[in-house]
Amino acid sequence: MKKRIAILGGGLSGLSAAFHLRKAGKEFLLFEKEEKIGGLSSSFLINKFSFDYTGHFLHFKTKYGKALVSSFLRNNLKAHERIASVYTAGEYIPYPFQVNYRKLKNKIIAAECDKGLEKIARIKKSEGFKTFKEWIIGTMGEGIAKHFMLPYNEKLYKSDLSKLLPAGPATYIPDIKEKKKAYGYNTSFFYPKEGGSGALAKAINEKVFDRILYCAEVTGIKGNTVVFNKNRGVSGFDSVISTIPLPELVLLLKGAPESVLKAAKKLKYVSVFALNLGIGRAGINKNNWIYFSDPKISFYRVGFYSNVSKKLCPPWTSSLYAEVSIKQGEKLDEKKLVEKIKKDLIRTGILKKHDSIIAEQKLFMKYAYVIFDLNYYKNMAVINKYLKKRKIISIGRYGAWNYSAMEDALLDGKRAADSV
Ligand SMILES: Cc1cc2nc3c(=O)[nH]c(=O)nc-3n(C[C@H](O)[C@H](O)[C@H](O)COP(=O)(O)OP(=O)(O)OC[C@H]3O[C@@H](n4cnc5c(N)ncnc54)[C@H](O)[C@@H]3O)c2cc1C
Repeated sequence: MKKRIAILGGGLSGLSAAFHLRKAGKEFLLFEKEEKIGGLSSSFLINKFSFDYTGHFLHFKTKYGKALVSSFLRNNLKAHERIASVYTAGEYIPYPFQVNYRKLKNKIIAAECDKGLEKIARIKKSEGFKTFKEWIIGTMGEGIAKHFMLPYNEKLYKSDLSKLLPAGPATYIPDIKEKKKAYGYNTSFFYPKEGGSGALAKAINEKVFDRILYCAEVTGIKGNTVVFNKNRGVSGFDSVISTIPLPELVLLLKGAPESVLKAAKKLKYVSVFALNLGIGRAGINKNNWIYFSDPKISFYRVGFYSNVSKKLCPPWTSSLYAEVSIKQGEKLDEKKLVEKIKKDLIRTGILKKHDSIIAEQKLFMKYAYVIFDLNYYKNMAVINKYLKKRKIISIGRYGAWNYSAMEDALLDGKRAADSV
């Protein structure tokens, strides 16, 4: 008899697992708690504006990832050259800060950054950093750290960076030694011409929808049975591929030992509140996105959907997203925060006082960024050992509990499908 595989969650990693299982002629059933698939890569249509869970842009590291996405989206995929800026001490300069700070009119900041770089060049230490803070200062110098890297990352991760590992986020920060014309992993990116980032999940869904149970929230895993919506269940699974956020998955495993539950409780994350806005004025900004390190400004990043595709908004309008990091478990005063975001958009010159907001959407992403605290690997080892014993493969950004992107989700799904 053919093996039966349960897939938990219909974001890109679950959908990719489903697609690759089908391709290999394997049997599966996918459980998705929402009435639609796509997870964080979904898109929404609000008042003729197409919004995402903040800009979800595709960056390919592998030939397979690019070929797979191209096979799903065919001619609905377009390449873009990144236009990004940084806002520091009231000035805009091109991204990344660490190679463009000399463009600041504030020459005191630029001189401090130069001094910091000269100091690390004398020390010549390029590895062995124990914390994220040490890594930032040790690879970019005290000036760049003080004027951008520390405040920006403290704002994003809502953490003391001396209590974080130099893992995860560090891999996404442009290497100052690259000596390139354009820096970082995202110098160019791909995005669907139509349908927002959600077009990708929709295209995969077409290949596997007959094996998806929608509105089926997994509420327990007992032996070979997947329980959903509390009192329903499907039995007889040989393996489980889960994309449910790890701290939640562990709670669903009947009989999980205390040590595993304790380790899962210690996993840390930050949430993100996003405000999507449609504005009644065309061409409000030239950037794809802008980074903000100033702790007095609510958002850490603002991006512009309308600069990626004109089809994402009606004529003579623009659209943007503002992202605000929220500390794990912090109570959110949504109304106050939205007011502050709008004020800050004016303060930073992105919006004009009399701009008209013609579409608005608020989104909350509970598990947005995994925090690599000093006990991260210790806790993950306890959980992973137990999952292996239960034959559960936990994948995707929140299932594997790491810092990964959409392409990684697709590749995770393939690897999991190949391994069962
Ligand atoms: C603010 C932000 C910006 C980002 N920008 C980018 C970007 O520009 N480019 C990029 O490549 N990546 C980006 N990412 C990362 C990207 O969103 C993820 O890598 C990817 O979407 C992860 O897909 P996934 O399927 O693993 O998880 P998810 O998309 O979270 O999917 C998990 C699915 O499981 C379902 N689920 C959860 N619990 C249950 C349950 N109990 N029962 C049944 N179903 C359940 C959910 O409803 C969801 O559909 C960004 C992430 C964030 C937070």
